[in-house]
Amino acid sequence: MIRQQQVHPVLLAVGAVAVGAGLAVVTAGGSNTTAIQDLAEVEYAATQLSDTVYLVEPRPGLAGNLAVSVGDDGILLVDSDMMPLTDRIKATIAGLKPGAIDFMVNTHYHYDHAGGNAGFGSDSLIMAHESIRRRLMEGREAGNRFRDTPTPAEALPVVTFEDGLSLHWNGERVDAIRTSNPSHTDGDTVVFFRDSNVLHTGDQYVNLNGFPYIDRDVGGHALGLRDNIAEMLAMIDDETRVIPGHGPLASKADLQHYHDQVAVSIAHIQEAKEAGQALEQIQEAGLPERFTDFTGFQPEGAWIQYVFASLDD
Ligand SMILES: [Zn+2]
Repeated sequence: MIRQQQVHPVLLAVGAVAVGAGLAVVTAGGSNTTAIQDLAEVEYAATQLSDTVYLVEPRPGLAGNLAVSVGDDGILLVDSDMMPLTDRIKATIAGLKPGAIDFMVNTHYHYDHAGGNAGFGSDSLIMAHESIRRRLMEGREAGNRFRDTPTPAEALPVVTFEDGLSLHWNGERVDAIRTSNPSHTDGDTVVFFRDSNVLHTGDQYVNLNGFPYIDRDVGGHALGLRDNIAEMLAMIDDETRVIPGHGPLASKADLQHYHDQVAVSIAHIQEAKEAGQALEQIQEAGLPERFTDFTGFQPEGAWIQYVFASLDD
């Protein structure tokens, strides 16, 4: 994929295994001219998934997938991507329905999903899990990377929740659900548009034919991610449209395959660790053949490291 080719050289250049969703704009500090030029090329495409719900997708996929509910009650947006993209997001949504965006829900704190909050907070009521607000207040962007300046007040969620909340909006129930376990981060939230039968997973599911990122700096946990994906699978059916944090629109079958890849790899790493192998030995031996082509996102060695460390928690 285009995105993969753009991501990996940058990550190698800054010596980072992965930060955020592993995006090209991540540097060890300072500006990145190439990344800014890349962002200038980003356009948003809206795909209608039900009477009211749309996938709003950045192309190329340098930021997260958005979901928006548009109807008689108004507009609800899931995630905000990054500040340089705010005007393009607003223009895309205005093309669906003019007017203010009433509500926003953040799926997690990473800069490529909540980094645009400040551009919406004066007009929109931002709602999020308590730890998302806490991480934003820390100025944390992803992993151990922080903003240079304090997070503006208008970027902070105004309504916070612990387990979840429900909106009755545009003719259906919309549930923001904090999945049970630490996972991609410590506050991952999915948004389920019940009647539309659309689930936005946040970055717990990245549909790029590869392993996910685990933000260990905030207590993210590989086994928790596996179990949270199982929770999502129990919520949905074969007709559900699944919006991943990044990558193309998916189905329950796609999410099931991802779950199985995650679960089988964890079982393999756990078995090797319990047999006394060190992290480096497991990385050197590599994962079984079924993972040979599962290389579209996190490097295999990084995933083994996340799992190995999670098994010690
Ligand atoms: Zn993320």
